Amino acid sequence: MQINVSQMLKETIGSIRNYEVSEIVDIGESESMVQGKVRLMRTDRGILTRCSLHTELKVTCSRCLNLFGCPLVLNIEEECFPITEVVSGASLPLPDEPGCFTIDERHILDLTEAIRQYALLAIPMKPLCREDCAGLCPGCGHNLNQGPCNCLPQGTEPYWPELSKLALANDVSVNEWKGTE
Ligand SMILES: [Zn+2]
Ligand SMILES: [Zn+2]
Repeated sequence: MQINVSQMLKETIGSIRNYEVSEIVDIGESESMVQGKVRLMRTDRGILTRCSLHTELKVTCSRCLNLFGCPLVLNIEEECFPITEVVSGASLPLPDEPGCFTIDERHILDLTEAIRQYALLAIPMKPLCREDCAGLCPGCGHNLNQGPCNCLPQGTEPYWPELSKLALANDVSVNEWKGTE
């Protein structure tokens, strides 16, 4: 997402531009439609970017491991610094801020990297495809959102008496069986 700010860099501090954006941005492993508002303000050192954007990123559900579109809100606020003086074309020293965003020698302010960084931070630690995702069966790995599997339910206390009966019916006592281990 690129904006040419050469004109803005010639303007006085405090001048403002507003943009409505709607663009496909390459975020992480997938391309996502990013939409919203971008407001640029000329500062003494560069351009302050304030973005209110939303997008949807394909992420893996932490319970059922399915890919799903996770909606993200990106509130970006970053000052971007020109590396070239707009009138003279002279190189400008960058501020001592690690990872600061720059405006290139063609006076293009590229928001892609900021969007990418904010989006990756906005992904929840344990993404869920839906609030009540049923997850996978720990026994067979079946996706329980698609209905129950054939495994015995967890916490099988009530089933033990049934198993003992089965053992008795086969004329094998539980003690004997343990002894052969
Ligand atoms: Zn899920
Ligand atoms: Zn199962």
